[in-house]
Amino acid sequence: MNHVVIVGGGFAGLNCAKKLVKHPEVQVTLLDKNNYQQFQPLLYQVATSNLSPSNIAFNLRDACGGHPHVDVQMTEVVSVDPNTRTVKAAHGQEYQGDFLVLAAGSQANFFGTPGAEENSYPLYSLHDAERLRSRILAMLESVECNPSLAGKGALHFVIVGAGPTGTEMAGAFGDMLQISVKRPADERVYKHLATAEAEVLLVDAGHAVLAAFSPPSQRYAAKSLEDRGVKVFLGTTVKEVGAGHVVLSDGTRVTTHCVIWAGGLKAAPLSDKVGIKTGHGGRVDVQPDLSVPGFPNVYALGDFANISGKDGKPLPQLASVAEQSGKWCAKNILADIAGAPRKPFEYLDKGIMAMIGRNCAVAEVGKERHEMRGAIAFAAWMGVHAALLTATRAKVEAFVEWAWDYFGKTRGDAILDRPTQEDINWSED
Ligand SMILES: Cc1cc2nc3c(=O)[nH]c(=O)nc-3n(C[C@H](O)[C@H](O)[C@H](O)COP(=O)(O)OP(=O)(O)OC[C@H]3O[C@@H](n4cnc5c(N)ncnc54)[C@H](O)[C@@H]3O)c2cc1C
Repeated sequence: MNHVVIVGGGFAGLNCAKKLVKHPEVQVTLLDKNNYQQFQPLLYQVATSNLSPSNIAFNLRDACGGHPHVDVQMTEVVSVDPNTRTVKAAHGQEYQGDFLVLAAGSQANFFGTPGAEENSYPLYSLHDAERLRSRILAMLESVECNPSLAGKGALHFVIVGAGPTGTEMAGAFGDMLQISVKRPADERVYKHLATAEAEVLLVDAGHAVLAAFSPPSQRYAAKSLEDRGVKVFLGTTVKEVGAGHVVLSDGTRVTTHCVIWAGGLKAAPLSDKVGIKTGHGGRVDVQPDLSVPGFPNVYALGDFANISGKDGKPLPQLASVAEQSGKWCAKNILADIAGAPRKPFEYLDKGIMAMIGRNCAVAEVGKERHEMRGAIAFAAWMGVHAALLTATRAKVEAFVEWAWDYFGKTRGDAILDRPTQEDINWSED
C-alpha cells in the first residue's frame, strides 16, 4: 500500500483524496480540524441569513463516499516534518506517509492594522459566518427595541475590502436596506434599516471594486452598490478598528460595532510550522508539478501554496485553482506509484463571477473573458455555485432557499444563535 497523508479537507485536499481513494493500491489519511468541508464562496450568505450552515458545510466522511481506503480524522495538525513526511497533531498523535499533501487553506490577513484582529469580523470560516450573522442580527434587534441605539452606531456596518467577498457582503446589505424601504409595514423586515441613520460602508485601498474584473464590470458593480444605498470609499484604508468605531485614512471616524474584514488573506497558521521557508503571503512555493522544492514527495496545494500559471504569474486563491490542483496532485502521485513521469500543473481558467444583489451580478466567462452583467449573470452565478456544492442534497436545498428568498421575500435563516454576540457594550468606543 502507498500511504498518502493529506492535511486539510477543503477544495484542494478533499478533491485530491476523492481521486486517490478510487485506486485500491493507495491508502489515504485525511486530517482536518473540522469534520466538515466548508464552502467558502457562500459564507456571506450564511452571514446575511440567506442560507443555513448545513447548506454550505459537508461531512468529510460522507464526502469521501465511504471508501475502505480512506481514513478521515478530525484533528488539528500542529507541526510538519517534510524530511520524514510526518505530521504531528494537537492531541499528540503522529501520521507518516509515503506522500504528504499540505492543503490547510488560508486565514485573514489584517496587515498589522491596529485593533483589526481584536475588533473586526473576518469571514473565512463557517464559525466566522455564524458569529457575524449573530452580531448583525443582535445589532438590528437591539435598535428595533431601543431606537436611541442608532446614535451609538447600531445601524452602521463597515466592510473592509472590495474584492468579491466584500462586494457580495455589501450587496446583500444593500438588498436588506432596499427591502426595508419598500416594505415598511412588513413585520419581517427591520424597519430602522429604512431610516437615514442606516449606513453600509465599503472601504478599499484600491481604486475600483472587484479589482480582478474588467473596468466595465467594476463600474457596473460600484454603481449597483451605490443604487442600493452602499457608500463606497475607494483609495481609502482603515487606520484603526476600535470596539465601537473605525477610523479611515481620510480622517473619517465611524461609530460602529460591526466591522467586517474581507481585506486580504494569508496562508493558514500551520504555514509557520512546516519547516519550509515560505513565500508570498506565507504560502509554500511549489514547483510546476505542485511538489515542494527539495521534498519531492511533499505537495502543497490550493490557498496554502504559491502556484504559478503557464505565464509564470501566481494563480489567484480561488476554489477552482484549489480543486484543480487537488485533482492534479492525485494524478501525479498515481503517476509516481506507476513509475510514470509527473506532469506540470495546467490550470483551466473558467472565468470569474461575483454576486452583487437581487438580479445583479457580474461574470467574465472562460479564457476569453466573455462578459455578462445583470439578471443573466445573476442566474449564471446561482447555477455555478449550486453545481459546485459537494452534496446533491445541498444543491437542491440551496436552490429552494434562493427561490424562497427571491419569491417569498423572507430570509431563510435569521437566527441569532451566538449569545456572546448579543452582548454589545454600547458605551465602548
Ligand atoms: C468568503 C470567501 C469567499 C470566496 N468566494 C470565492 C468565489 O466566489 N469563487 C472562488 O473560486 N473562490 C472563492 N473563494 C476562495 C476559495 O474559497 C478558496 O480559494 C478555496 O477554499 C481554497 O481551497 P483550499 O482547499 O486550499 O482551502 P480551504 O477550502 O480553506 O480548506 C482548508 C482546510 O484545511 C483545514 N485546516 C486548516 N488548518 C489545519 C490544521 N492545522 N490541521 C488540520 N486541518 C486544517 C481547514 O479546516 C479547511 O477544511 C472565497 C473565499 C472566501 C474566504
